[in-house]
Amino acid sequence: MGQALKEKIASVFEEPACDHNQAKGAKERKKGCAKPLTPGAAAGGCAFDGAKIALQPVVDVAHLVHGPIACEGNAWDNRSSASSGAQTYRTGYTTDVNELDVIYGGEKRLFKSIREIIEKTDPPAIFVYQTCVTALIGDDIEAVCKRASEKFGKPVIPVNAPGFAGSKNLGNKLGAEALLDYVVGTQEPEFTTPYDINIIGEYNLSGELWQVKPLLDALGIRILATFSGDARYRDIACSHRARVAMMVCSKSMINVARKMEERYGIPYFEGSFYGISDMSDTLRKLCALLVERGADAELIERCERLIAVEEQRAYAALTAFRPRLEGKRVLLITGGVKSWSVVSALMEAGMEIAGTSVKKSTKEDKERIQEIMGTDAHMIDELPPRQMYAMLKDAKADIMLSGGRSQFVALKARMPWMDINQERHYAYAGYVGMVEMVREMDKAINNPMWQQVRLPAPWETAGDVACAAR
Ligand code: SF4
Repeated sequence: MGQALKEKIASVFEEPACDHNQAKGAKERKKGCAKPLTPGAAAGGCAFDGAKIALQPVVDVAHLVHGPIACEGNAWDNRSSASSGAQTYRTGYTTDVNELDVIYGGEKRLFKSIREIIEKTDPPAIFVYQTCVTALIGDDIEAVCKRASEKFGKPVIPVNAPGFAGSKNLGNKLGAEALLDYVVGTQEPEFTTPYDINIIGEYNLSGELWQVKPLLDALGIRILATFSGDARYRDIACSHRARVAMMVCSKSMINVARKMEERYGIPYFEGSFYGISDMSDTLRKLCALLVERGADAELIERCERLIAVEEQRAYAALTAFRPRLEGKRVLLITGGVKSWSVVSALMEAGMEIAGTSVKKSTKEDKERIQEIMGTDAHMIDELPPRQMYAMLKDAKADIMLSGGRSQFVALKARMPWMDINQERHYAYAGYVGMVEMVREMDKAINNPMWQQVRLPAPWETAGDVACAAR
């Protein structure tokens, strides 16, 4: 691993705004959070994968993966991050290095690929991703990108997060570091207003940002940049002029929020778009912070009026589902979406939480769950598939909400399952998203199919008949 990359990783692990990190001693902190990956078992994602996930939602940029084709094959478009315009981000560009490149080096091939992309599609910028193989053979992507930028007069941004550097989460942060090092602050917006904000750690999965944007529009709040859902290269380059930042997922891009506060004096707060009361809290915090930073004080009043209307509408819509969902028990195994947010959202719909995973939760997340659920908080650190199956089979839960990888456990137990992770195809943010989530749960739990699926199979009953006849 190159010295520069080692130093970058060390600086990411030293993140002072990360509670998890601060709870450790100096020696432990130095070791970092990344567990070494087991060769051949990188299904949970490598650092390259993490960097790509964090940056690919920048929609007008060409994302060029410097490495064997399989790296891009694994990472290409595996999340439903939506764009309101440009589709450049959905084309998979790779240098597809081969055995000869491994022997002679792949830098020339990389340079030629950059030129080809510029000649054919002329995007506003190109992001070049390092991978294990090209890092191991010593390709200097920083030098090639610098040379290409000079030659073609276009930003070519190196993203140095080869898979072996560590986990997907580390990769998210290394991807964000590339934005901080090469993009943020390089352009100026045409105009600024006291209502300009950045949203950090929001990837517009299945269009969730569009469930929230109308609320901000109604309040006259302008999203200067999103890191990085439905973002344009120029938005991020101008993002240093925002007044306030909101951080959506604390784990993925906390370094962006903290460093932008340090460098440009943009204060940030952590909020959530999931659940009715959390959405309202977020709007309140956002408006209060904007007023502190120079927006007109009447914004707070307008915000309260909007919240009153939206909450009433959302609760009215939820009433229809209550009789069908009240008292149903949910087993919640979340990854990216904060557990406490979903917990409070489900409780608002009258459901009970049979258990919630806290494996990826921070100390604060756990405290929030405790606060919301009180003594009933069944927090699960690790739930192996066997126990998950037993819980569902013994009907301790009526539905499981999790990522796609554990869906077959629920289906084997003949229990409803709903996708809550980043790969989901439905958007659950904001007030309308909450109603959508409850609608989807109603469809999953009350689907008449389950009665049939749970009946004994014909060959099982056929055996009984044969026994009776004997
Ligand atoms: S970057 Fe490395 S770990 Fe990640 S997919 Fe490519 S070869 Fe595998």
